[in-house]
Amino acid sequence: MTCGSHACGHQRPVSTEARGLRMTGDRAVLRQGRGAARRGQRSRYEALVTEMKTSYRIAIRKWRTGMQGAAYELKYRDGRIKRLITAPRPRGPVSAAIFLHEVGHHAVGFRRYSNRVLEEFYVWQWAFREMTSRGISVDPRVLRHYRRSMLYYVRAAKHAGAAALPPEVQAFLEWPG
Ligand SMILES: [Zn+2]
Repeated sequence: MTCGSHACGHQRPVSTEARGLRMTGDRAVLRQGRGAARRGQRSRYEALVTEMKTSYRIAIRKWRTGMQGAAYELKYRDGRIKRLITAPRPRGPVSAAIFLHEVGHHAVGFRRYSNRVLEEFYVWQWAFREMTSRGISVDPRVLRHYRRSMLYYVRAAKHAGAAALPPEVQAFLEWPG
């Protein structure tokens, strides 16, 4: 399952994340400190990827260079199931959110919700819980991506002729900026 712009749908684009410490004081010391901080962040995100791959038996089909991802479930005739995702490599809150959203499609399951918009909504809630429990900030950029993603699905549902939107997702009908 894939979807188009502004949403994961199992495929959605976003904005990129950049962060760093402010340059004040001794540059050499700061550079060192910044390097250590970056390495700390990097190993935290690497640990996240390893943990998710193991916990949910997911393979990374491809690391995306853009802020979009997809989740795939392949079924074979002998009953084997292969779970794949594409996502940006987690390096900050936004890429981690997208990565976890795609993992969330597998964690939540493709068939738990009959309503696609609701599925996206609850997969996002799953991703945010995972972020929060790991101390990864669900910051304004993450929330903006989330709202744009949900708007895409809500609009798609309306376009497809959905009579009524579930109450959980009615708040997403407006462009979040
Ligand atoms: Zn999705």
